[in-house]
Amino acid sequence: MNGARRARIQVSGIVQGVGFRPFVFRLAHELGLVGWVRNTPAGVVIEAEGSPEALTLLCERLEREAPPLAVIDFVHREDVPVVGEDGFVILASGVGENHAGIAPDGEVCPDCLRELFDPTNRRYRYPFINCTNCGPRYSIMTGIPYDRPFTTMVQFPMCPACRAEYENPSDRRFHAQPIACPECGPRLRLLDGAGCEMETHGNAPLQGAVDLLRSGRILAVKGVGGYHLAVDATNPEAVAELRRRKNRDEKPFALMAPDLASVRCFAMLTDVEERFLEGPERPIVIVKKWEAEIPIVPLVVPGNGYYGVMLPYTPLHHLLLRENFSALVMTSGNISDEPIAYRDRESRERLAGIADAFLAHDREIHVRSDDSVIRVFQGGPLFLRRSRGYVPRGIVLLASQPSVLAVGAELKATCCLTRGAHAFMSQHVGDLQNAATFDSFTETVRHLQTIMEIRPEIVAHDLHPDYLSTRFAEELGDVPKVAVQHHHAHMASCMAENGLDSETIGVIFDGTGLGLDGSIWGGEFLIGGYQGFQRVGHFRRATLPGGDAAVREPWRMALSWLHQALGGEVLDLDLPPVREVAVADRRLFLAMLERGINSPLTSSCGRLFDAVAALVGLRQRISYEGQAAIELEALAERGSADEPYPFGIDEEGDVRQLDFRPTIRAIGESVRGAVPPADIARRFHSTLAVATAAVCELIREASGVSRVVLSGGSFQNRLLAEGVCDELSKRGFSVFTHRLVPPNDGGLALGQAVIAGLRRVLM
Ligand code: ZN
Ligand code: ZN
Ligand code: FE
Repeated sequence: MNGARRARIQVSGIVQGVGFRPFVFRLAHELGLVGWVRNTPAGVVIEAEGSPEALTLLCERLEREAPPLAVIDFVHREDVPVVGEDGFVILASGVGENHAGIAPDGEVCPDCLRELFDPTNRRYRYPFINCTNCGPRYSIMTGIPYDRPFTTMVQFPMCPACRAEYENPSDRRFHAQPIACPECGPRLRLLDGAGCEMETHGNAPLQGAVDLLRSGRILAVKGVGGYHLAVDATNPEAVAELRRRKNRDEKPFALMAPDLASVRCFAMLTDVEERFLEGPERPIVIVKKWEAEIPIVPLVVPGNGYYGVMLPYTPLHHLLLRENFSALVMTSGNISDEPIAYRDRESRERLAGIADAFLAHDREIHVRSDDSVIRVFQGGPLFLRRSRGYVPRGIVLLASQPSVLAVGAELKATCCLTRGAHAFMSQHVGDLQNAATFDSFTETVRHLQTIMEIRPEIVAHDLHPDYLSTRFAEELGDVPKVAVQHHHAHMASCMAENGLDSETIGVIFDGTGLGLDGSIWGGEFLIGGYQGFQRVGHFRRATLPGGDAAVREPWRMALSWLHQALGGEVLDLDLPPVREVAVADRRLFLAMLERGINSPLTSSCGRLFDAVAALVGLRQRISYEGQAAIELEALAERGSADEPYPFGIDEEGDVRQLDFRPTIRAIGESVRGAVPPADIARRFHSTLAVATAAVCELIREASGVSRVVLSGGSFQNRLLAEGVCDELSKRGFSVFTHRLVPPNDGGLALGQAVIAGLRRVLM
């Protein structure tokens, strides 16, 4: 061909196992190009030959029209000598070190969904339909490369029809590793509590399951990363029975609704929330519920103004939800703090006392993962939990660093592995103090290392010597360990995902983390970067009367703060937290407050929220972590007055102490003056925002730094995050928040990994 050129194009990112090569194949044919495409350890490499215009179009369309599960990091083009070939072909994969990304589990795509409900299609109503653009990935991988023999699909030999699709480059199921059909693939089964296949009166297991749900029964449904427990969300007895059997009094249940229109019947949705609900990651999105009459049973989210909702993401979900359900409760299949059940036999044992029946199948889940949970904040996602649908997507770091394994903290545990300039966060694992969860954590670390082929050169852990993650790190043998202060890790995590590398102010509002001085920190103002930090401000400390009991019983924190603010007469006042102490016990409790017996000190922001929640009479005892603060935010959303309460700032050298005693005094007066609790809660949020900005101004005056990152568990509170962002922006600060990982301890490992990686570079 005259004037022909040849280009070698390298595409990196998540481009393998997502239908990228057939996509390139079709594109090349369309553009009349010859050459080849192949998978290599570093991504996809294309050599294409043809007119210069067609080559330019190829590069543009590669990025613009990439398959839905692909995430492109970069496209690099270089011109090479013309060869002259006959056609365009897909070459076998090269071998070598695997640097290409692995795709997360994806929602069923529109093409497959159409076939699922097309009576003429051979996969009509087949619950395991998938293609190169959709279906399970991470959860079925047993090893690498991502190829059928290294997935749990290995036990299903393909039938001739599936084999033909799998081998045909122009078919949309070309090399779709989980390809299956009713002839050759996994099968659905309905089992009773004892694990025996149930008589479904000639109907398919699916119809049997629908009948059970309709009659108010509890159904365990096998999903992508584990089992859900499902009940009809409009049936009060069924929801109450699920709470009773799950031993879960108040923690909200997640919902799954058939489509957006159904969600709009019980929740107020913004455009952005709708986009996230419908996105391929299919997270649970926290949305505001209608105050009006709605069909959903109140017990789904007791005392809470929000629903956690998701849309169906597997073909099975679609088949179930289209049976005229307004919504199903779909809560993780576990007992309290245990990890989500995912192996069939183990699930039947563990969920036996809860589920009446199991809608199961024989495609094994190899990696467990819970649903991801997000809220929408300033047009983007605010992660409360980053898990299924996002993991194991990489996060791009500013610079290449030695490979690090970071093990996080103890609650909401995740781990992070780095390779070059990429960080890979694991799925959410849970609270490590639960033995089964701890085992799941060690499994997760091992599996992620295997499929990412990373051998860590450094292990990073929290400064707290007693965290189970710290002990786990210490037992990892001959690898250098780096201990990272908890709030420094939070700060670095937010800096890393925002690509910041110069001096930054860290506003870290959190529940608990061990400080450098041995006390419990949590309301912190730091300045520095990855290499180090200085604590330049913090909340005035309060005692935790009774130690850990003060975390479970917010009334104790309220009395601790009241005692600081008002002194000994506090127990004579008629305030909600005071009523929690029997008159006969008051002298003893006062003595504990005065002498600080069994009362460690903390600057925690989370505990301040607890104190205020108790003080306004909202919540004296909690049944799940963060409950008082979550409810205080929901209450504040309904409040109108928002002028701040008074607060104080004391400067000692270059450390500022934010003093909330005046705030607590004023709130105490408001409560006794019968001011509506919602208004008090709102004013408290504004106070915190204004006070934070005031401290940051002092730090800026002293340092000249005007870049601020916000991190820590308290920033799951959207009202607080918005308030702090607004007040800081008004004063000319550049404010950065989390968008890729959670602000809570679920995002901590990223910060640990970057701090440890850089420390090593500098050594
Ligand atoms: Zn599909
Ligand atoms: Zn088949
Ligand atoms: Fe934390």
